[in-house]
Amino acid sequence: MYIFKTKEDLHQYLSLRNQSVGFVPTMGALHPGHLSLITESKKENKITVCSIFVNPTQFNDIKDFEKYPITIDKDIELLLSVGADVLFLPSVKEMYPEGIDNTPTYDLGILDRILEGAHRPGHFNGVCRVVEKLLRIVSPQHLYLGAKDFQQCLVIQRLVDLLQLSVQLHICDTLRESDGLAMSSRNQRLSADERVRAATLYSCLQFIRTHAKDKDFSSLKESSVETLAAAGFKTEYLELLNTETLDLMDDFNPTKHMVLLYAGKLGEIRLIDNLKV
Ligand code: AMP
Repeated sequence: MYIFKTKEDLHQYLSLRNQSVGFVPTMGALHPGHLSLITESKKENKITVCSIFVNPTQFNDIKDFEKYPITIDKDIELLLSVGADVLFLPSVKEMYPEGIDNTPTYDLGILDRILEGAHRPGHFNGVCRVVEKLLRIVSPQHLYLGAKDFQQCLVIQRLVDLLQLSVQLHICDTLRESDGLAMSSRNQRLSADERVRAATLYSCLQFIRTHAKDKDFSSLKESSVETLAAAGFKTEYLELLNTETLDLMDDFNPTKHMVLLYAGKLGEIRLIDNLKV
């Protein structure tokens, strides 16, 4: 595996090989969820590039940025174990020679005003800023993203459309721990006790999906938020989204594509998850 720290070196490597490139952007602290995206990319591309960059412009909470886990030696071992071809590991200066405050704005429409957009002001703008830079550096034909960050996938599709980039998005399933908790780099910051209670989130989402046929969403939401509160969660939102119109729905509709989306804090750690209904 090649490791490049500068755009120039990565660019030179890629321009010498005229082959299909699959790209997996990450912030490191890799786990099997990230590795599943690399495996997916390897099936469909000659070269798989993974980036590790903890992007300062997408953290609306500075404490979250400062405490983001960095495990680079282990990450390199994991990338080698799944056969990634290239790791792009830039510094903040390499990615933002213009400084991080000089922010362009992206017209994300309703996506910037609902759910994560409403609860994390500026977050998606920061995501778009770094993803635009990365896509222009790597120029992949295929981009692999995790369904765990459902709204982020919609935002990046919007970015690709806005910039008219010819890259195809692949949304890969969420990998979960054996108790159902969605794998996340942030999980390692949960205490042992919180880690056990964190499983309540997925069981509540499943409970809602199971009862979607015989109960209304508002009563299921109320009882789930109560169950989650008893497990220590402070819920930010639990909503039902029509994935085609991007409308938040009051109730289930079997003729529409819908997804349940959750965000909340368990202790200091903010967790998100989602489930199609
Ligand atoms: P992150 O390092 O958290 O920015 O995530 C990098 C990529 O991995 C994003 O596309 C995430 O959606 C994806 N990802 C994170 N967790 C999971 C998971 N549990 N299963 C599948 N993909 C994931």
